[in-house]
Amino acid sequence: MEMENQQSEAKFMCSRCGTVHPFSCIRVVPAWNETALDFLTSYRCMQCWVETLGETKLKTAVLTDEVRQKFCDFLGRHEFDELSQVLRQAKLDSSSNAIQKFLDHVQSGDIVLEP
Ligand SMILES: [Zn+2]
Repeated sequence: MEMENQQSEAKFMCSRCGTVHPFSCIRVVPAWNETALDFLTSYRCMQCWVETLGETKLKTAVLTDEVRQKFCDFLGRHEFDELSQVLRQAKLDSSSNAIQKFLDHVQSGDIVLEP
């Protein structure tokens, strides 16, 4: 049940509801973690990912410099360096709008984040 990832099984544990699913059902979304105070690359099952993405949208709807910084770091880790640079230099409210659009693309599946 832990984070072990057996190649033959190819299963993952949803880090929201804690149940195990086939890897084909994974959705990777950014999720704010109150302990780490950071956006983590989070594995969610089909039942959970929409809600988690909604929470991330809420978290980024009104940005602070610090939250923006963390989101840009997340983008950098996923090789969206160009977007990350643009967001860092934009005004906070424009950054927020751009992040919402990015998350909409994640929601629609136009952007697929890799585990
Ligand atoms: Zn779940």
